[in-house]
Amino acid sequence: MLSYWEKSTLRHFDLVVVGGGIVGHFTALFYAQKNPTHRVAILERGLFPSGASTKNAGFACFGSISELEHDVVSIGKEATAVLVMKRYNGLKLLRETLGDEAIDYREVGGYEMCFELPNQERIDFFNDLLEPHLGARPYTIEPPEGYEFSTKVTRLIKNALEGTVDTGKMMAALQQKVAQAGVLTFTQSSVEELENTKKGKVVHIHNPNGTVAFYTRQVALCTNAFSRKFLTDEELEPGRGLVLVSKPHPAFHWEGSFHYHDGYNYFRTIDGRLLLGGGRHLDKPGETTLEPGVNSTIEKALKEDIASLIAPGVAVEIDYMWSGVMAFGSSKQPVIKRIDNHLVAGIRLGGMGVAIGAQVGLDLANEMCL
Ligand SMILES: Cc1cc2nc3c(=O)[nH]c(=O)nc-3n(C[C@H](O)[C@H](O)[C@H](O)COP(=O)(O)OP(=O)(O)OC[C@H]3O[C@@H](n4cnc5c(N)ncnc54)[C@H](O)[C@@H]3O)c2cc1C
Repeated sequence: MLSYWEKSTLRHFDLVVVGGGIVGHFTALFYAQKNPTHRVAILERGLFPSGASTKNAGFACFGSISELEHDVVSIGKEATAVLVMKRYNGLKLLRETLGDEAIDYREVGGYEMCFELPNQERIDFFNDLLEPHLGARPYTIEPPEGYEFSTKVTRLIKNALEGTVDTGKMMAALQQKVAQAGVLTFTQSSVEELENTKKGKVVHIHNPNGTVAFYTRQVALCTNAFSRKFLTDEELEPGRGLVLVSKPHPAFHWEGSFHYHDGYNYFRTIDGRLLLGGGRHLDKPGETTLEPGVNSTIEKALKEDIASLIAPGVAVEIDYMWSGVMAFGSSKQPVIKRIDNHLVAGIRLGGMGVAIGAQVGLDLANEMCL
């Protein structure tokens, strides 16, 4: 049973953001900064964000050469450069807004593992393409020295401008920042229905205490892979991803964010542990799901990669394993748009939401402030 105060004041907002991931938090933050007198709330169905934002690997990256090669084929040279710059600028915005120390940003480089000798012309092509935009030639070829990888790894293609963040610290910093901006966050509040009124929307929530209606002028939908419930026409496919973290081992002394198999697989170190993940390409139908869970085929393949590629001869014990859900479409561009007079959406972040999430939040906040 709600009190007079809860009914009269605490359910009324100027903006309700549905979904408390990276995009939801940045949307709320930038909107609140532009409209300091407005009341803003984030409604998140999980105790923690339950999509991808606290499940990811913390790669602050904008594209390995193999991934960008696919992009050039599908969208062309210039559109690929625009896509890279969106991610690069998103990373800059993330770092400027939260601060490198707070998110433990480390510019340790991104590395693509090569199993054959790489072609210098490929590297030159992408350096030439990106240099006018970045003011730098990010890619170089390096020998795989200083690591204990398998001899199958012939070379590494380094991207000097990529790095890593601590995902937990990044989300904690974001939560603090939105609270400082006056945004109220309600967790364990699953939005079940958005109802239209003349002045805005009624947001119907289900939480452990029952069902509650919130009233707002605007809603920002930041529910990424889970948006079908509200946007039936949007092209949106869920893609689950798996992450494994080992126990600490002296072998994991190096830093860097590493990719292989066209970016589908990735690994790094964290606190003397190996973190690796990906492998979605090994069972795409099985991973096209919104449900959390561990795909045993992919788990087995990732463990085999530790033994055969990343740390041969090292006795690696897995300490943590989890999954998260991303959202994909035929284009790698996120969907940022107005749906009706009182509803906007910022969804379909793909696999590089750490890089573009802040920018999507800013674009969405701007859309509401036009
Ligand atoms: C395993 C894995 C590894 C990844 N690694 C990286 C990486 O290293 N670097 C990188 O850049 N990106 C990575 N990503 C991608 C990145 O994490 C995502 O692109 C980004 O987190 C998307 O943010 P978001 O806010 O759009 O979505 P989400 O984080 O999914 O947030 C959406 C939120 O909406 C909530 N929600 C859904 N429905 C409702 C409802 N009805 N009511 C209330 N709340 C609701 C969900 O619980 C969720 O918290 C990875 C993703 C995964 C899964």
